[in-house]
Amino acid sequence: MSPSDFRDLLDETKKQLLHLQALGVDGIHLTNGSPVASTHPTGVSTVPASKPEVSKPKATPKKAASALFGDLGPTPDKLQASTETFEQIHGEIGDCTRCPLHSGRTTVVHTEGNRKARLMFVGEAPGADEDIQSRPFVGRAGQLLTKIIEAIGLKREEVLIGNVNRCRPPGNRPPTPEEASMCKPFLLREIAVVQPEVIVVLGNTAMKNLLDTREGITRLRGKFQDYKGIKVMPTFHPAYLLRDPSKKRETWEDLKMVRDYLDSTAKSK
Ligand code: URA
Repeated sequence: MSPSDFRDLLDETKKQLLHLQALGVDGIHLTNGSPVASTHPTGVSTVPASKPEVSKPKATPKKAASALFGDLGPTPDKLQASTETFEQIHGEIGDCTRCPLHSGRTTVVHTEGNRKARLMFVGEAPGADEDIQSRPFVGRAGQLLTKIIEAIGLKREEVLIGNVNRCRPPGNRPPTPEEASMCKPFLLREIAVVQPEVIVVLGNTAMKNLLDTREGITRLRGKFQDYKGIKVMPTFHPAYLLRDPSKKRETWEDLKMVRDYLDSTAKSK
């Protein structure tokens, strides 16, 4: 069979399997080399006309379905539960030299706050104050962030606060995509540990690193987005609000939506 015939055959097989999946078939077993449909809750018969032999599935129907169809259709990308601890993650980060930012830092600034938080804030990278104190958002922008948190009825200790990068970039420039890609996996692992209900991404760098988007913060702010099943609210970075206080109004609108969402889910629990 030529490579192009083989590709055609694969495409056709994929189409057939997707069609069967749409009909409710959730697994196929090979019996003596012949495909036989298995459990299909819709009752639609897809067993071949000649010599039907339905064997008992070895895997559960769900497992069989994911084995069969897992790589064909779009599967919802949900956050997997994690049993790691922050101590393990921070231990692995250690005295990090993975990216060039390490050479200019004083300390590594880890995510801090409530490890059972319903709400998380993610910024860009530490500034001068954070670099000295080894805590995120403790400078002027951090003080404004604390006020924002309190304005929605929470205490700073009740939420989780972190950054895409844990070392201060020189001159407070944004981390490069390469620098971010070295550090971000640790943030994502912390998110998987805590599984907050809402993540507020502060500014473009945080938003673009958590969401797969080409849009800018001005377009996406105030609209809930999704990160693996977690609601994400993009809003302006507090450092930007210090430069342009007129944007505080919109930020307040965004945070009220977050507060209202958290209130609504707390009530339904
Ligand atoms: N800006 C950030 O993005 N993060 C901090 O921790 C402080 C300032």
